Amino acid sequence: MDSKQAISTLNFVAGKWENAESGEIRRFNPANLHELVATAPDSSARTAARAIEGVTRAADGWRSLTAPERGKIVLRAARILETRKEEVAQLITWEQGKVIAESRAEVTRAINIMEYAAGMGRRLGGSTLPSEADGVFAYTTRLPIGTVALISPWNFPVAIPCWKIAPAFVCGCPIVLKPSPFTPACATRIVEIFLEAGVPPEAISLVHGGPAVGEQLVDHPMVAGISFTGSTKVGTGIHASAARRLAKTQLEMGGKNPQVVLRDADIDQAVEGCIVGALDVSGQRCTCTSRVIVEEAVADAFTARFVARMAAIRVGPGHLAEVDMGPLVDRTRAEQVAAFVDRARGDGANVLVGGAPPAGLEQGCFYAPTVIDNIDPRLEIAREEVFGPVVGVIRVNDFQQALQVANSVDYGLSASIYTRDIARIFSFVQRIEAGMIHVNRPTLGGYSHFPFGGLKHSSHGPREIGDDTIGFYTGLRSVYINHE
Ligand code: NAD
Repeated sequence: MDSKQAISTLNFVAGKWENAESGEIRRFNPANLHELVATAPDSSARTAARAIEGVTRAADGWRSLTAPERGKIVLRAARILETRKEEVAQLITWEQGKVIAESRAEVTRAINIMEYAAGMGRRLGGSTLPSEADGVFAYTTRLPIGTVALISPWNFPVAIPCWKIAPAFVCGCPIVLKPSPFTPACATRIVEIFLEAGVPPEAISLVHGGPAVGEQLVDHPMVAGISFTGSTKVGTGIHASAARRLAKTQLEMGGKNPQVVLRDADIDQAVEGCIVGALDVSGQRCTCTSRVIVEEAVADAFTARFVARMAAIRVGPGHLAEVDMGPLVDRTRAEQVAAFVDRARGDGANVLVGGAPPAGLEQGCFYAPTVIDNIDPRLEIAREEVFGPVVGVIRVNDFQQALQVANSVDYGLSASIYTRDIARIFSFVQRIEAGMIHVNRPTLGGYSHFPFGGLKHSSHGPREIGDDTIGFYTGLRSVYINHE
């Protein structure tokens, strides 16, 4: 951002940009809390209800757009985002804090996913199946479920809204987006881009705010489905509320992702994988590595090299080219990370590097890359999502124990193994309880046409990204036509 002028964002309700009736959210740069980035309406449940009712009422008006036409609009949005890539990446870094290379990668991922979703407009088919009776033609076809609430987090403030809005619109669902209050400006840019591309203004709403808005979206009888990305705690509550009125849910939630390192692994490759896996977005990716499970035979060698690399990471404001890792998103989140590490110390864990905010960066929400050695898999630090640049090393005797420890938590999002043993690789893939599995790669990263999500407490409902998401935004119907 050249001028560093704070951005004043608005709600988009019933086809118009409007201010809140009440409070205001103020978002500061997490690398420098003296700098105001954006203001946004702290909307009420009443505004959320007007938004829901507005898009639901108007749906008949634009439903004559065919799925290929809707796909073309989404493709146009992808092209516009491409032309504004650098500006949007700079905004992500300013508002969310991640380093600029990560912001650019996020925008590229959003574009790729939108391109794929646009193509769904020509693939939204059912199937023609053999009839049981002569004279009957039978096939399946899909119908949009109706108004959907899209509730998004702050760690991918552009890509996640895009990967929800694009398939929802292509499938024909009216949309209400509620972004995280930490990233109102990024969400606003995205809605502007979809509108500029030709999404009918009455098909989409944007309502800024916190839990009051989210709860209204979940409880309102006109909302047919809720696509939520965020913590397992909030997602579980949403699911319970939605279940009372049988609304559909698509929930992408937390992780406690293991990287297993076996004795035959390429140790340098495993260390680099763990650096990327642990520190991307300052450890604030749902797929970040937070447990490294190492065979005792190579644990000292791995840990020594890993600690040296973590200690050399350059932490600072994300817009600086020489910085490897940016701040955490907010002061409260940085304090939560510090509290996790302090409790681990209290439990007797051994902090080898980090374990505190780095010196000289007090104006922002920074926390040093942290390695905790030899943790007991039963400890909180080994079981709960920290969501910061903190890795616990768990030493195990063999592959079987590594697998047992890896599977011993409630989460099941992503997992990785470093080994050259083909039998172990297949055994791991077969038995690891995770939705995304990487071999000799970090726990994070996924393709823009592959399903994204986990097992156990990490996900619920049809996967996001890729074709599976169609199963959330549409209902499948069977049709029997007697033509005798
Ligand atoms: P969060 O659960 O605090 O908030 C997510 C969203 O839910 C925000 O928009 C928030 O305002 C809203 N919300 C909060 N309370 C609500 C309520 N009672 N009813 C309805 N909405 C409510 O999560 P966060 O801190 O924004 O994001 C971090 C979490 O997201 C981590 O747990 C991370 O693992 C997870 N995440 C998961 C994925 C995935 O695809 N699995 C991707 C990114 C982030």
